[in-house]
Amino acid sequence: MIETVELHKNFGKLEVLKGINTRVDKGEVICIIGPSGSGKSTFLRCINLLEEPTSGEIYIEGVSVMEHKKDINKLRQKVGMVFQQFNLFPHLKVIDNVALAPMKVKKLDKEAVYARARQLLARVGLNDKAEAYPAQLSGGQKQRVAIARALAMDPDVMLFDEPTSALDPEMVGEVLDVMKQLAKDGMTMVVVSHEMGFAREVSDRVLFMDAGIIAEEGAPAQIFSNPKNERTKVFLGKVL
Ligand code: ADP
Ligand code: MG
Repeated sequence: MIETVELHKNFGKLEVLKGINTRVDKGEVICIIGPSGSGKSTFLRCINLLEEPTSGEIYIEGVSVMEHKKDINKLRQKVGMVFQQFNLFPHLKVIDNVALAPMKVKKLDKEAVYARARQLLARVGLNDKAEAYPAQLSGGQKQRVAIARALAMDPDVMLFDEPTSALDPEMVGEVLDVMKQLAKDGMTMVVVSHEMGFAREVSDRVLFMDAGIIAEEGAPAQIFSNPKNERTKVFLGKVL
């Protein structure tokens, strides 16, 4: 689904990604963990070209992203993204937030788009909030709308960048539950998260990023119970 080869990203003289080589297979759930500033967000943002890589290659379903920058909008449709800050449109009702992109980009029939938007809101447990505005929702509800909105484009893979980090603790569970259900339904997912319980329970593979490289990767049971890299051990010692 996704493959990166020697992916580098510099901001001026700052080398943030120093050669990321990995692949994500269809249906896999990957969790990325690692210290703040290690390049996790930059990596996700490179995958859908919110940041332009300095060098290296990214393939999405076998297509080189770097060679098809003209078709970037088409590629981006395959890749849904959910951010820590929900980035909902405050002046639009929940249902319109979910329907906006498919209406504009896919140019589908309005009734079909809205029927699907309602289905997606039901899927994230919010069918009773369709007519509400974002300001009337809790953080957990906003993030579930953001997930429904990303799903509305029918992506083949979903990227999550610390989706629960801005939430009050009592709302983390409802968002993780939606993500768990998505994973169960077979969605391919790349999740940057400090929720080690989620990583352990849901992911097929954990990547530990440190200072711009993947310092260690493996099955969650191995990474959490028997980390091999010294820096993984130090990091887990702090967060577990
Ligand atoms: P993480 O998500 O792991 O905390 P980031 O990918 O956000 O790490 O950031 C990695 C490094 O890149 C940090 O030193 C950060 O300050 C720097 N960085 C990120 N985005 C930019 C940018 N747009 N311009 C300059 N530096 C950036
Ligand atoms: Mg980040």
